[in-house]
Amino acid sequence: MKKLLTLALCLCASTALFAQTTQIIAHRGFHATKNSVRNSLSALQNAQDFGAFGSECDINETADGVLVVVHGPMHVKYNVQQTDFATLRAQALENGEVLPTLEEYLVQAKKNTRTKLIIEIKNQPTPQLETEIVEKTLALVAKYGLEEEVEYIAFRFWVCRELARLAPKGTKIAYLNGDLTPEQCKKERYTGIDYNLNTLKAHPEWINKCHELGLTVNVWTVNDKKDMQWFI
Ligand code: MG
Repeated sequence: MKKLLTLALCLCASTALFAQTTQIIAHRGFHATKNSVRNSLSALQNAQDFGAFGSECDINETADGVLVVVHGPMHVKYNVQQTDFATLRAQALENGEVLPTLEEYLVQAKKNTRTKLIIEIKNQPTPQLETEIVEKTLALVAKYGLEEEVEYIAFRFWVCRELARLAPKGTKIAYLNGDLTPEQCKKERYTGIDYNLNTLKAHPEWINKCHELGLTVNVWTVNDKKDMQWFI
């Protein structure tokens, strides 16, 4: 249990009004193990083997248009958005794994679909590039038939708006930035909020309001038992 609590975990409460359950999403995968690192393929596989409800990852676009799994803005000494894929790929992760592409992540996600893949689309320099990364991501997810196993999160209002406009009906989209009320998120056709724990503690009424509106409530990032119990 102690080990579990030391992981970077998010709690995810379901939308069902009368059957609320709490779920665990591994933040950047389950990387707090020997020989793994955040946002690596092994971190996704660990989350799948652990049986987490979901495994979160961050995606970004390289200067030559490849979608990669990396938090950024930097990978080693290179700015991800300003560097070509080959240069980034030549810089190994801390544990020796290669920097994964989104496509490689989806191949791994497909191997065990009981663990959902939660894709965080990172902010891009322009709204046009944000629309582009949304379109490319949705196309890749569709290529692997994972539309029902992937959920999306983003800090950028525009990214969430484009997801709501372009993703298949029923796709889960949660907003991260903490500055919209549940009513505003509902109006934007997001399916949930995914807010920092301090934001939700400052607005505990938003939790019930979301449930009333049929929105999911996620919270990041819960790393200790006291917070975990408060949110459960
Ligand atoms: Mg993230």
